[in-house]
Amino acid sequence: MVSSAYKKKDLEIEKKVISLLMGKNLTITTPRKMILTILYKERSPFSVLDILNKLPKNCCDQATIYRCLNQFIENHLVETIHLQKDLVHFEFNAPDHHQHHIVCKICNKIDSFQDCILEKIENNLIKKGYKEVRHKLEFFGICEMCQE
Ligand SMILES: [Zn+2]
Ligand SMILES: [Zn+2]
Repeated sequence: MVSSAYKKKDLEIEKKVISLLMGKNLTITTPRKMILTILYKERSPFSVLDILNKLPKNCCDQATIYRCLNQFIENHLVETIHLQKDLVHFEFNAPDHHQHHIVCKICNKIDSFQDCILEKIENNLIKKGYKEVRHKLEFFGICEMCQE
């Protein structure tokens, strides 16, 4: 029972990912489909290495992952997040799912949260005449585990 429910959800995700790629006129290739699925499914920041570890062995190399991610960024499907020094993270760009991140300064663990109080500022900027107003704001701290 459970597995068939999972299957149904995976099928829905696959359909959605294919329609996202087609909507941007990107040819459906296995690496594109698999990489976008990982980001779409989990909605959290991934490094290239995180993505590589999630993909089946020998599915594609790091250069392919970079190439796919750059195409996704150009097409606004994915955005980059600079949370750690010298390490870029990639996250699915979901207009309906706005979130912020906090990084532990000691263990580098990344948490995501949805509270946002900046809508008022964005609305004021829209009133001023700006379009496609967005914001990025990242937080840094020391997590509970690292305080012990
Ligand atoms: Zn920590
Ligand atoms: Zn926000």
